[in-house]
Amino acid sequence: MKQWRGSAAGERPSGGVPPVGARSYWLDEALAADPGAACLALSGDVAADVCVIGGGFAGLWTAYELSERAPQLGVVLLEADICGAGGSGANGGFFSPSWTGLSALCGSLGESGGVAYAAALADMVNELDAWVVRHEARIDAYHEGILYARAGEWQAGPDEETFRLLEKHGYADRLRCVNVAEARSVADSPRFVGGVITPDLTVIQPAKLARELRRVLLERGVRIFEGTPMLRVEAGRPARVVTPAGSVSAAQVVLTTGAWAITQPHFRRAFAVCTDFMVVTEPIPQLIEVLGWTSHMGVADLREMLYYLRTTPDGRIAIGGGAMGIVYGGRIEGRVLSSPRLAEMAAHGLTWLFPQLEGVRFHAAWSGPMDITSTALPFFETAPGGNVHAGLGFSGHGLTSTKLGGKILSSLVLREDDEWRRMPVVGRPLATVPPEPLRWPLVKSVAWAFESGDRAQEQGRARGRLPRLVTTVYGQYGAQNGAIRSE
Ligand SMILES: Cc1cc2nc3c(=O)[nH]c(=O)nc-3n(C[C@H](O)[C@H](O)[C@H](O)COP(=O)(O)OP(=O)(O)OC[C@H]3O[C@@H](n4cnc5c(N)ncnc54)[C@H](O)[C@@H]3O)c2cc1C
Repeated sequence: MKQWRGSAAGERPSGGVPPVGARSYWLDEALAADPGAACLALSGDVAADVCVIGGGFAGLWTAYELSERAPQLGVVLLEADICGAGGSGANGGFFSPSWTGLSALCGSLGESGGVAYAAALADMVNELDAWVVRHEARIDAYHEGILYARAGEWQAGPDEETFRLLEKHGYADRLRCVNVAEARSVADSPRFVGGVITPDLTVIQPAKLARELRRVLLERGVRIFEGTPMLRVEAGRPARVVTPAGSVSAAQVVLTTGAWAITQPHFRRAFAVCTDFMVVTEPIPQLIEVLGWTSHMGVADLREMLYYLRTTPDGRIAIGGGAMGIVYGGRIEGRVLSSPRLAEMAAHGLTWLFPQLEGVRFHAAWSGPMDITSTALPFFETAPGGNVHAGLGFSGHGLTSTKLGGKILSSLVLREDDEWRRMPVVGRPLATVPPEPLRWPLVKSVAWAFESGDRAQEQGRARGRLPRLVTTVYGQYGAQNGAIRSE
């Protein structure tokens, strides 16, 4: 095992991560590379065929699909901050399928529904390749797959039922078991004891994707108003979307405000809001020599609160996971977004997986909110009036599912009875979450049980009795409600 020798005297020790930034490293980098055309705040009253609310991937892909399928429609997109300011500009950039969770998907959606949904997500990975070429998008995309590594005997891989389902439905080649040598040949961690590889994953610079989507939409005539929060939607035909200094009258409205939708009474029990943290290192010139990580293959381990990590074109490693913040009610603010402990947990993952990197310097830390449903599956719902739609609950797995979601929401808007509208995730969430004040302590205790159990096993100890009890109870709830791990 080669050793990283990057830390000079007086430098920040590993684990000493910078304060958590208000914007992600990705978004800072994307804006520095290309701030894009200005999209001023809405002032006055405008009319549109469709008003999309929220400039994350769900809203951007919906506007894109509409511009593709019905270019004659006048589309307005409202974003409270700037496009990509939410989870979409902050995530790990794993544009990933759901093959490892296929048995859980089938548990939630039925066998044919689960397989159809997983196959559609995998198709999105290939579609992204074509989209990048077509629009000459600069999003640092590498379609090289992912290693889900078992970082210790205590980490289980996908269950047997998942492999059986893959075999039965003709997808056996999408998940390949690898031994310790092959796992370590991807990136040389002494923790790896094996794992599985899928080729169907692209790592991207997520904020660049959000900004490039914004560019393409502007070129297609979509009117984007940033710094423009929706205050309320008044039902009617047309519906009226009210903002601080104006309004949009639109025949159809699509709500894609992600975690922030928790403040709308209708969605209060649709999902819990959690925060996830990431850190990125300084460039590591000896990355290839020290870790042998010569590809842009993504890596994740298989603990309950999994770590996910990837390289960047300039030789950094970005890593997230290991722990989560839990938002009380609708308060997506304060410590739950800036906790030094949660950022340090993400950083800890890097030197635990790769002790050779002890002393590596971290350049930035950030976080973002996620709207996590009981099943970790999104839902696509139309209000009784028929002209207000919502696509929410993308959980920790929103990159492929927001791209698919854009197709589903467009089909709802265009009233097309097609394969997208028939996806098994269309409708109310499959299960509700408990209301506050119960939700916060319940979700917090599950997160604590996962994290502390993982930590004990990292240190060669058994998971404690209480974490095991909480995990078992959650597992039983999951078996009844199809809950799956957030990836
Ligand atoms: C740290 C982190 C790592 C992740 N890693 C991955 C990963 O590697 N792979 C993966 O698939 N998923 C990952 N995810 C999840 C993924 O980022 C999300 O599922 C996805 O981005 C959700 O997109 P969205 O458009 O629904 O929400 P968002 O991107 O949050 O967009 C919602 C937008 O709505 C805006 N908004 C809010 N309120 C209003 C209002 N009233 N009016 C107008 N606009 C409003 C917000 O400003 C925001 O821009 C990660 C998430 C985080 C936080």
